Amino acid sequence: ATGEAPALKKMAAGHPEKVVVAQRIAEDFLGRLQVMLDLGLGYLTLERSTPTLSPGELQRLRLATQVRSNLFGVVYVLDEPSAGLHPADTEALLRVLDKLKASGNSLFVVEHEIDVIRHADWIVDVGPAAGEKGGHILYSGLPAGLKNVKDSVTRRYIYEDSVKVVPTPRTPKDWLKLEGVTRNNLAGLSAAFPLGVMTSVTGVSGSGKSTLVSQVLVELVAEQLGLKVATSAETEADPLEQVEVLTLGGQITAGMKHIKRLVVVDQKPIGRTPRSNLATYTGLFDHVRKLFASTKAAKAKKYDAGRFSFNVAKGRCPHCEGEGFVMVELLFLPSVYTPCPTCGGTRYNTKTLEITYKDKNIAEVLGMTVDEAANFFDEDPAVSRALEVVSEVGLGYLRLGQPATELSGGEAQRIKLATELQRAQHGQTLYILDEPTTGLHPSDVERLMLQLNRLVDAGNTVILVEHDMRVIAASDWVIDIGPGAGEDGGKIVVAGTPAEIIKNKVSRTAPYLKQTFVNA
Ligand SMILES: [Zn+2]
Repeated sequence: ATGEAPALKKMAAGHPEKVVVAQRIAEDFLGRLQVMLDLGLGYLTLERSTPTLSPGELQRLRLATQVRSNLFGVVYVLDEPSAGLHPADTEALLRVLDKLKASGNSLFVVEHEIDVIRHADWIVDVGPAAGEKGGHILYSGLPAGLKNVKDSVTRRYIYEDSVKVVPTPRTPKDWLKLEGVTRNNLAGLSAAFPLGVMTSVTGVSGSGKSTLVSQVLVELVAEQLGLKVATSAETEADPLEQVEVLTLGGQITAGMKHIKRLVVVDQKPIGRTPRSNLATYTGLFDHVRKLFASTKAAKAKKYDAGRFSFNVAKGRCPHCEGEGFVMVELLFLPSVYTPCPTCGGTRYNTKTLEITYKDKNIAEVLGMTVDEAANFFDEDPAVSRALEVVSEVGLGYLRLGQPATELSGGEAQRIKLATELQRAQHGQTLYILDEPTTGLHPSDVERLMLQLNRLVDAGNTVILVEHDMRVIAASDWVIDIGPGAGEDGGKIVVAGTPAEIIKNKVSRTAPYLKQTFVNA
C-alpha cells in the first residue's frame, strides 16, 4: 500500500491502470484488516472456521464487516458486546461503535459493563430487581439524569464511589506447580497457583489464559485425581487440531496433596430438558416429596415419595406424561407447545393433586418462587436452608419448577455454586471458573464474589479466568498472561498480589487495575 514493491515502477511505466487497480484492492484489503485488528481479533488465523469462534469473536467479526459497509441509517442491536473482553479490547470495541455512530447509524446495546454504559449517549435502565420484581423502565434519558433515580441499582455503580475495593490478600497455604506446559501459544511454560486463596488469571483475548486454566490445569489435575474430563464439543479449537496439540502437555510437579476434588463451574445449562429444574438439580425436590409423602392423607393412600415425581408414571398426568404441556403439530409451520388440556399444565394427575402439605398441592409448591418457598417451608430447616442459599446468590425470584431450559447461563452457574455451598465443606476442593462474571450486572458480581469468598474461607481454592477489574482487585493473587494475543502472548507477564501487579510496566491489565484502586 505504501507503493514500495520492487516491480511497481516497471509496472507503472507499462500499465499504469494496473497500478491503480492494485492500489485500490490493497487499500480496501488493509482497511478491512485494520478494523479486525482494532477489534482485537488480530490473533485469529484467516482460515479459522467460523463455527469454532466464540460468540464474542463472531459478534466482533460481524461488526467489522458492518463498519466497512458504509451503510447509514441502520439500527444495530448488540447484546452484551463487551462480554468476555479485556478492558483493552473493550476500548477498541467502543472506538468501532463510535465509527458506526459517526456514519449516521443508531446503536442499541444491552450491556452490564460500566465502562460501556458510561460511554452511551442515552441510558434506559430496566428493573429495579430481577424476575417478578423487575420489568419496569426506571429511567430513560441522558446519562446525567440517572443520578437522581433512587431505585436504580445501576446508578450506584456509575455515580457512587461506595463500591470500594479493599484489598486484604490472604496468605497461600501452599503452591500447585505446573511445568513444561505446551499447548496452543503456551511453550514450555511454568506456572504456580497458590492454594487456599482466590486467584484471577488475566490477559487480553487470545493471550492463552483460558488454555492454561480451563484446558491444561483442569486436565492435569483431573488426571492426577483419576478423573476423566469429557472433551466438550464446544471447545474453541478445531477438534482435529486438538488431538495433536493435546500430546504436547506438561506436568504437575508439586501441590497435589492438598487437592482432593476438582469442580469446574461453568455457565452450561443444569439440564437439557424441561424435566430438570432448580428443585431437582439442587436435590431440594427430594426433601419436598418426602414431606408430601409423610402427610396423613398420603400415608392413608400408601403414596410414597415417588408418587410426587412428575417423572414417575403413578403420580403424573398420563396425557402429557408429566411434561405439563403438549406439542401441537402444525402443517407448514413449526410445532407449538400448549399447556396440557388434561392437567392444565400442573404435570400431575388429580389423585396426586388431592394431597396437600400446609394447604398447597405439589404443583402449587413447584409454582412458588424460591423466596416464597423459603417462608413456606420455614418449619423444615433442611429445605429452608437450601432455599436461603439460592436466595443469597440473588436467585430468589426463580420458581422452583422453572425448567432448566429457561435459565440463563449466569443463573445456571449460580445454581451450581449454591449447590456447592450447601455441600458439607471439607475444604481441599479446587474450583475453576472461566469468566464467571460474563453477563452479570455489577450487583450480581458482588453476590458472586461473596459466594466465592465463602468457598475460600471454607478451605478451598478458587481459580478464575477473569476480565472484571473489581473481581481481579479483590483477588488474593493475580497471574497476568500475555503481554499480547496469539504469538505475542503465552507468557506469564507478572504474578503477585493485585497491589504488586499494578506496578508492572508491561502488563496490559495493570493500567486498568490501577484505575480500580485509584477509584477506591
Ligand atoms: Zn398433563
